[in-house]
Amino acid sequence: MSVELTIEQKLVVVEETTKYIQLASELYKRPYPIIPVRFDLTGHTIGMYRQGPKGKVIRYNPLIFAKYFKENLRDTVPHEVAHYVVDVQFDRKKISPHGQEWRSVMRQFGAEPSRTAQYDLSDIPKRRYKTVPYQCECRTHQLGIRRHNKVRQRKMDYYCQQCGQLLKAVE
Ligand SMILES: [Zn+2]
Ligand SMILES: [Zn+2]
Repeated sequence: MSVELTIEQKLVVVEETTKYIQLASELYKRPYPIIPVRFDLTGHTIGMYRQGPKGKVIRYNPLIFAKYFKENLRDTVPHEVAHYVVDVQFDRKKISPHGQEWRSVMRQFGAEPSRTAQYDLSDIPKRRYKTVPYQCECRTHQLGIRRHNKVRQRKMDYYCQQCGQLLKAVE
């Protein structure tokens, strides 16, 4: 059984995130507004910074964070805040996500940019994908979850437009 983050732990994570955002404001002499933190990542993604339609947000995976709390506080929090800082400073089309700009922010944070997590995630459920692979004679098809459910409920069959074969779910 995997364990969720406690309320107290979430507060620590939000505080640590805020600490790095404030540090960025000091380091780069420009105000970095505090952005929302969410604990809604699932699957094996540990953290994510995103500029979405509703604004900037940092998201963490509560199951992985709970399992490796200290490590994620040390690595994942500065990692995601550094993405935020780089996103404000640079045109994202012109740089690579973990390129020298991001690594430079990580070093300014005193964090280790090259550290890649070697976590054992075997007890963390993988994300349920929105498509399911199906096979015919000639290739693999990705069926949306609604089509997949129709096949499972025997309401619909789908055929490959190229080879004409019935599509079967890949086990
Ligand atoms: Zn990253
Ligand atoms: Zn085919």
